[in-house]
Amino acid sequence: MAEDINLAALPDIGLEKRDGLKSALEALKSSPRFCFCLLKITNSDAHLCSRYGFSGATCETKKSFEMEDEDAEKKSNSSKEIYPFIDIFQNGHNILKKYLNDQSYIPNNHSEKIALEKLLSLLLEIEDLGEKMSYEMPELKTCKNKSSWTVRLAHHILSPLAVYQQYVIDDTYESKCDICHCCKEHISGDYGDTSIGNKNVWHGSLDILIGRRVGISIHHEEIFDDSDSKENSTSSPFEVKDGDSLVGDRQQIIAESIVFAFLQKKINPDLKQFLIPTIGMSKTDVLFYLYDPDHDVLLESPPFFIFESKGEISYITILALWLAVNHPILGTGITTHIKDRSFTADFLKHLENKKVEAIYENEIQLGQLNGEIRYDPYHFPDYGGRWIVKKGGKPLIEADEDVL
Ligand SMILES: [Zn+2]
Repeated sequence: MAEDINLAALPDIGLEKRDGLKSALEALKSSPRFCFCLLKITNSDAHLCSRYGFSGATCETKKSFEMEDEDAEKKSNSSKEIYPFIDIFQNGHNILKKYLNDQSYIPNNHSEKIALEKLLSLLLEIEDLGEKMSYEMPELKTCKNKSSWTVRLAHHILSPLAVYQQYVIDDTYESKCDICHCCKEHISGDYGDTSIGNKNVWHGSLDILIGRRVGISIHHEEIFDDSDSKENSTSSPFEVKDGDSLVGDRQQIIAESIVFAFLQKKINPDLKQFLIPTIGMSKTDVLFYLYDPDHDVLLESPPFFIFESKGEISYITILALWLAVNHPILGTGITTHIKDRSFTADFLKHLENKKVEAIYENEIQLGQLNGEIRYDPYHFPDYGGRWIVKKGGKPLIEADEDVL
């Protein structure tokens, strides 16, 4: 537990790792490769519930600079349409700046001290971490055992970085590993109900909930096809190919991030701000989505690679994950710059119904959404009168509607 950590001495990570941390911070401050763009929703079925949970959600978006590309007059402003990753984590930025200037610096705030200690402890073991994360197992190659990779991410990266480190893994997984296969250690987290949303609208289970503050969505294929962007540094870091079958995963994570942000607003109303991250992770990439239901602002990052070219874990990705999983402590919300842009996601506008708006604003819940979905033929006009009763995203029985 956090209270057990000896705060008198923060770990000494040595000059080389401090330099690595400094370069990573610089990248999150100034590199267009590690930034956010604003999204506008162009088509969504958020007023419906899908029989496939979040994986069936439709949420098509356009990036602000894509919209301006259609408007020649504004095209010259497109370079201003990306925002440094670190800008929305100003508290995290300040802590790191002070630490990098003075290694004897210890934050006064208890939670900030613990957060910094967590990051430094993980960096101390980053070489071992690279070996553990890249340890190949047959079941990972074939994706037969979904929980193996989820457990490894939670056990070795996400929970060790998080001040609120208790985590829950989706208990609807077919196989539930309670040891991590790479190190044979028992996991400290539990399997449990990670469902979020409302039965009448978008809902489904997240793969991992960390401290009930951060949602993680695990995908076993690369979320973005980045084969070109790795080779060609001039291509946009945000590029997603048309026809990429994994674009659907992106819509799923966006739907999850919007629902999760409304949930956080409801269950943690004391947060200073409500720009809430949801993290999409594959075996190679990490994607960050943040939604602020107060300002209707939706941000997307490009993919961050977990591994560097030689197989080491990326300092930049670790730093970005540390900021995101500790957002209640390190995050500062949307900047004045973003607010002044007045570019909203228009999430509620697409609902076109005050009753459905009220569901998102007042009736998003955590848990107890894995059972039978309420029958409403309006939701499934193409389903020919047949109906699937499902639990945890898996169809259990198929029945005629008059049976239900
Ligand atoms: Zn392990």
